[in-house]
Amino acid sequence: MKTKFDALILGAGMVGATAALMLARKGFSVALIERQALQLMEDKFSATSLPAEVDQRVSAISPASQQLLHELGVWKQASRLRSCDYHKMTVWHENGSAQMQFACEQVGRSHLGTIIENELLQSVLIHQLSQLPNVQLFDQQQVTAIEQNDTAVQLTTSAGITLPGELLIAADGRASSARKLLHLPVTRGSYQQTAIVANVSTEKSHQNTAWQRFLSTGPLAFLPLSNGQSSIVWSADSDRAEELLSLSDDEFCLQLAQAFENRLGKIIEIGPRAGFPLGWHTAERWLQGRVLLIGDAAHGVHPLAGQGVNLGFADVALLSHKISVGQAIFQTRLLRQFERQRKAEAVTATHLFSALKLIYGQPSPLFSKFRDLGMMAVEQNILLKRLVLNSAMQNMA
Ligand SMILES: Cc1cc2nc3c(=O)[nH]c(=O)nc-3n(C[C@H](O)[C@H](O)[C@H](O)COP(=O)(O)OP(=O)(O)OC[C@H]3O[C@@H](n4cnc5c(N)ncnc54)[C@H](O)[C@@H]3O)c2cc1C
Repeated sequence: MKTKFDALILGAGMVGATAALMLARKGFSVALIERQALQLMEDKFSATSLPAEVDQRVSAISPASQQLLHELGVWKQASRLRSCDYHKMTVWHENGSAQMQFACEQVGRSHLGTIIENELLQSVLIHQLSQLPNVQLFDQQQVTAIEQNDTAVQLTTSAGITLPGELLIAADGRASSARKLLHLPVTRGSYQQTAIVANVSTEKSHQNTAWQRFLSTGPLAFLPLSNGQSSIVWSADSDRAEELLSLSDDEFCLQLAQAFENRLGKIIEIGPRAGFPLGWHTAERWLQGRVLLIGDAAHGVHPLAGQGVNLGFADVALLSHKISVGQAIFQTRLLRQFERQRKAEAVTATHLFSALKLIYGQPSPLFSKFRDLGMMAVEQNILLKRLVLNSAMQNMA
């Protein structure tokens, strides 16, 4: 009989790696299985070898998620390597005159959130995990089979390794293989939109502000980066996005500045562009026997509120409350409670972001009037502003 791990974690993305670290810090033995080469990622980001360019994939990390990462001993190191706090958020619509401005002082905070490269955060997590004696990393391997009975779950990798465990946590992303292998049904929808991401240099400073302009064709965000550039997330109907992706850099920059009402002046330079098709999904069951889905494997939302990975961190935070040091890691009752609570919160967030997308996507003048009134009500009422800010900072929980 091979050594049985307390936890098998499939997927070393930001959520899976954080779940692995949380369980390892509690003293559980952990096997982390990842299809990518982890050493390469770990080597890419260190104090001595930081890539010159900021990576195109970044995330807005909320204060609640930062707290979790801080407690696990990774936030200070990751944020010091390269990150950018934002102190303000400005939101407006192409049709209408209202604008909402949020500032950290309104909620007595030093910042509203931090923009950090996904791979940088992931590599700091992997580095911490690689130092722990109770963690084994199995990289460049995919899952090929999952079997389970009343006493154990067993995962087989593409290298033919079989790993038995008490609990398997699947954090293998949107197209989760674990979900497919177990035939777990998913409710999903497409927004028929694509998000274009790129890093741009602008004429004016980003002022440590997260900017979002809602266009009838989709939201356009400018997120501040530590090197003075901004990371754009431009969501547009898929045909329009195709068109935008095929433009020359110069033409794209002109259209981008125009779509952004030139708030930061001209777009001077742009890095590589990439498109991500947008959809939402929720797995109908998150717990199947000894297998638990978390992160994007369990839920996926529109990126307009920058909450996707924050919802995954909220999964890990709640799991940390349910699983205690010295107790059995697999307890159906506690994991069912986890599933009920987090699923309800994730479904609420999914509907909320879909509703926001719908409300902000309506071009009719009558709708614009109502939208303006709503935005003015928030802008002029500090209590409403605090409510919006606090829920965003607490991962919409
Ligand atoms: C344009 C865009 C902007 C976004 N911006 C934000 C933001 O600002 N803030 C925010 O909170 N969220 C944001 N998100 C959402 C965020 O990127 C995701 O929610 C997050 O990456 C999910 O993390 P995860 O660890 O659950 O999954 P993933 O990041 O998908 O990680 C899954 C891991 O599992 C591995 N894996 C997959 N299949 C297998 C297999 N069969 N075997 C072994 N390993 C496997 C993968 O290699 C990967 O490492 C954005 C999303 C998009 C598209």
